[in-house]
This record gives sequence, structure tokens and C-alpha cells, in this order.
Amino acid sequence: MSAPTGTTVGEILSANLLYHASLKQEIEWLFLETLGWSRHQLITDLDYVLAPGERDQILSRLERLVKGEPLAYILGHQDFYKYRFIVSSAVLIPRADTELVVETALDYLRGRRIEGTEIQLADLGTGSGCIGLSLLMDLPKSRLWACDVSLAALEVFRKNAKALGLEGRVLDSNSDVSGNLFENIYDTIVSNPPYIARGDERLQDSVRQFEPALALFADHDGLSFYEAWIPWSFKALRESGAIVFEFGEGQGEAVLKIAQLAGFKKWTLKKDLSGKDRVLLAIKE
Ligand code: GLN
Repeated sequence: MSAPTGTTVGEILSANLLYHASLKQEIEWLFLETLGWSRHQLITDLDYVLAPGERDQILSRLERLVKGEPLAYILGHQDFYKYRFIVSSAVLIPRADTELVVETALDYLRGRRIEGTEIQLADLGTGSGCIGLSLLMDLPKSRLWACDVSLAALEVFRKNAKALGLEGRVLDSNSDVSGNLFENIYDTIVSNPPYIARGDERLQDSVRQFEPALALFADHDGLSFYEAWIPWSFKALRESGAIVFEFGEGQGEAVLKIAQLAGFKKWTLKKDLSGKDRVLLAIKE
């Protein structure tokens, strides 16, 4: 329970910190974001008396937070890589580990130095669009095709494309890749597909409870999307094009094998922030 006592920032803040010490960072961030304050103000302006509307908003947000809802859904946005993305409960909350997909794709594309030519990108199961849209932001001469089976997710993607001023460079499709046949089109195909095996006990409670199952779980030990999307990508890539796919803990070898069977000739596995294999870069040539 949040403690709805008081009308000043200091009263509400201290009552909540007392009851929910483990949520200290989130509670403070919630105040800053809701009031549009700097961290400094949260020290100096504790006597500020909240207007009724502000108080109601803070209390209802605190109530959601202490019930375990992720802060990103409460605030409606999440920072990822260099940009801020709108999120709703229809999409996965962008993760810091996933920035490795963006960085790997950028390294690869910049290394090829195809100056002057337009880079064609695809983002499979785009969700919020955090991967594909970050690439568009950093690669001025590029275009993106993004698909997702969830229309609600695609609506979030569209909002993000608009907010980042990228509408003119994206094409989206409310579909799975299998309904689309493209050959020799893309320079890079990125994806963070659903990869959690159904029944995996290691999943955090808040993820299971609040994030969309459609974006999380996959059949066949979590590998079914790699089995479908990697061979599809091989055909859809131009010669010397590459896939950059994120995968889950312990799936590296299996995902690499799928890529080898699909015909990819060169590959690298990249490690995440905690030193575990997390991303496959595989090149077609
Ligand atoms: N591409 C999005 C992300 O990385 C969505 C991924 C997904 O829904 N599995 O956050």
C-alpha cells in the first residue's frame, strides 16, 4: 500500500520511501518525471505543496509502482540507446542489452562504407521499434521495413517513428515475415525475437505479469522464430548483407547452427554487459 498522507512532496515522498525502501530509485524518478523536476529540486523543494491534480497523479502512479508495474509503462516511455521511446503494455520495454544489436549493426554497416547509397534495413518483430528506429536515426541515408504481428505494437512503433521524425523513411507491416517474400533487398536485418521457452522458470515475475506474452515466448525451446526468420532473412538479404539477431542465455550455439544451415558463411557472437553471448552477427556473402 502506498501511504496517501500529506500534500507536500516531502510528506508523500518520505512516507513512500519508508514503506517501499527497495523502490527508492523508481519512486524518486516517478516524482521527477511527473513534476518535470531536476534531481536538485527533489532536495531543495520538499515543502512544495502539490496541486490536487499533481497529487492525484503522483498517488495513482505510486499505487501502480508498488503493485509491481514497471516504471516504463507507468510513465509511458523508456530511454534506449541515444533516444527516448514511447512504450505501452503492448510492447516489450527496451532493454539495455538490446543496444548491442544496434551497435553491432552500426559497426557492420559503417565498416562496409557504402557511401552515397541508401541502406535498406528490416526489423522483424519490431515492437516499439527501438532497434530499427535507432538505426534510422544514426544512418541518415537509410530506410526501414518493420513488421509485427501485433497491431497494438505497430501503433506504438508508428508513434515512435513520428516522434523521431522518421515517418517518411519507414514502411510497416502488420504481419509475420512468412507472408512476405523479398529477395536480395536488405543490407541488414535486425531482430530481437521472442525467445523465452514456454515454462521457463527464470523469468522475473514483473516481466511475466506485465509484459506482452506474444513478445516473450516462443515454441521449440524458444527457437521457433530463429528457425523461421533466419532462413527467410538469408533470402531477403543482398549479397554480403548481414543479420543481427539477439538471443537468450545459452541459445548462442543453437542460433548459430540455424544460421549456418541457412547458408550464412561468416559470423561472430557478441557478448552482453554481463559477459554472456547475446547477439549473432552473420554475413551472407
Ligand atoms: N524489437 C523490440 C525490442 O527489442 C521488440 C522485441 C520483442 O517484442 N520481442 O524491444
